[in-house]
Amino acid sequence: MTGPEYEVVIVGAGPAGISAACVVAETGRDALLIDDNPSPGGQIWREQERHGSNWEAAHWLRRLQLYRVEVLRGATVIDGDPDKHAIVCETANSVSTIRYKKLILATGSRELFLPFPGWTLPNVMGAGGLQALVKAGMPISGKRVVIAGSGPLLLAVGAYLKKQGAHVLAIAEQASWARLARFGLGLPTQPYKLAEAVQLKRALFRVPYHAGAWVEAALGETVLERVRLSLSHRRWEAPCDYLAVGFGLVPNIELAATLGCKLSAGCVQVDPMQQTSASDILSAGETTGIGGVELSLMEGRIAGYSAIGDRLNAQWLFSDRERMRRFARRMQKAFALREELRHLPLEGTLVCRCEDVSYQRIAPMPGWRAAKLHTRCGMGPCQGRVCGPAAEFLFGWHCQSTRAPVFPARIDSLIGHKEE
Ligand SMILES: Cc1cc2nc3c(=O)[nH]c(=O)nc-3n(C[C@H](O)[C@H](O)[C@H](O)COP(=O)(O)OP(=O)(O)OC[C@H]3O[C@@H](n4cnc5c(N)ncnc54)[C@H](O)[C@@H]3O)c2cc1C
Repeated sequence: MTGPEYEVVIVGAGPAGISAACVVAETGRDALLIDDNPSPGGQIWREQERHGSNWEAAHWLRRLQLYRVEVLRGATVIDGDPDKHAIVCETANSVSTIRYKKLILATGSRELFLPFPGWTLPNVMGAGGLQALVKAGMPISGKRVVIAGSGPLLLAVGAYLKKQGAHVLAIAEQASWARLARFGLGLPTQPYKLAEAVQLKRALFRVPYHAGAWVEAALGETVLERVRLSLSHRRWEAPCDYLAVGFGLVPNIELAATLGCKLSAGCVQVDPMQQTSASDILSAGETTGIGGVELSLMEGRIAGYSAIGDRLNAQWLFSDRERMRRFARRMQKAFALREELRHLPLEGTLVCRCEDVSYQRIAPMPGWRAAKLHTRCGMGPCQGRVCGPAAEFLFGWHCQSTRAPVFPARIDSLIGHKEE
C-alpha cells in the first residue's frame, strides 16, 4: 500500500484525539488528525469552530492551530492493514491510503437506543442527536420536548435545549433517587463535576426532573404526538413535539476490532500507556470506556506521549487518570439500566429499524448470529450499531461482529484501495 506517511495518525477529532494530536505536534513531529465531521471537536465540541462559547474547547482548538496540526475533515476511515501500518480513508470524492508509524484510535462513542413502542416515529430522537441538530441550526424555540433515558447527558441536553428556547416538559431518569443520592454524595470529591452539576441544576430551574422514571411509549399516527412515561407509582402522559431519548453511550470499537485490537467488556483493551494489543496502535477516550470529556482529554494526552516514546510525561498523568476512571466507574454503577427496560418492547416493536425486524421475530432466536442469518437484523446501513447494543441489553447476546468497511462506503472506494 502506498500513500503519504505520518509519524502519528489519529482517528477521531474529539477531545481525546485533539489532545493526543497537540501533544505529538508540540514536539515538532508530524501528526495527522482525521475526522468524519466537517470540523474538529467530536460529539461535544462539534459546533465550537462556527459559533463556540466553550472556553475549554476554544483552548484546545487554538492549540491545534498553534502547533499546525494537519486536520483531514469529512474523512472516514473505513479499513486498514495493521501489518502494513496503513489505513484507508474515504472522503466525499476520493479514497486514499495513509501510512503511519503510530496510530491512535480515538473514535469516541455513540448513543445507546433501546426499543419501546413508538420509538421509530418521526420526532423521537436520540438526546445527543437532537442536541446536535439544534446546534446545526434546527429551530427548537417554543417546541415542547420530553427527555428520557439515563445519565448526565440528559441534563446537558435539557439545559442546552432550554437555553435555545425549548419548553422542556420533563426529564425522566431511569435510575432511582437512592442511587442518584449515593452518587451525589461523592461529588464534593470532584470539584469540577460538582461545579458542573450546580450549573446544570441552575440552568434547569423549574424543569421537572423525575428519577425512577422511564418512557413507556411514544404515541402518534404518523408523527410523534404524545409521550407516556412511567413515574414511580403512576403514569404520566402529555402531548409534545419532540422526545429525546438516550440510555447512555456505547464505545465505537468497530475500527479497532477490524484492525485486530483486543476488546474487553465492549471497550478497546489498553495497557497503562494506552497501547492496544495490536502493535503500534494506541487508543484513547471513550473508545476505551465511557468516562466523560475530562477523562478523554487525559487519555488522549497519555496516548500522545506514549506514541512519541515519552514515558515519563505519560506516567505523570496516571494518578489523575485513575481518579477520573474511579469516578467513571461510580457513574456507570449509579446509572446502570434497570430490569424493567428489558420489557418495554411489544411483539410488533421494531428492534432493527434498518431491516424492519420486530421484537417477536428476534426474541426466539438463540443468539445474534442466528438472528442475523434468519431475520437480517443488524445487516442494514448502520451495520448493527443501533440494534446490536440493544439486543445485547435485551437478550444478553454477544453482538460484536465487525468487518471492513466499518462504515458504508462507495464501491469505487473499495475497488480503488484494493488495487493500490
Ligand atoms: C451524541 C452525543 C452527544 C454528546 N453530548 C455531550 C454534551 O452535550 N455534554 C457532555 O459533557 N458530553 C456529551 N457527550 C459525551 C462526550 O462526547 C464524551 O464525554 C467525550 O467528548 C468523548 O470524547 P472522545 O474524544 O472520546 O470522543 P468523541 O467526542 O465521540 O469523538 C470521536 C470522533 O471520532 C469520529 N470518528 C469515529 N469513527 C471514525 C472513523 N472511522 N473515521 C473518522 N472519524 C471517526 C467521530 O465522528 C467523532 O467526531 C455526548 C456524546 C454523544 C455520543
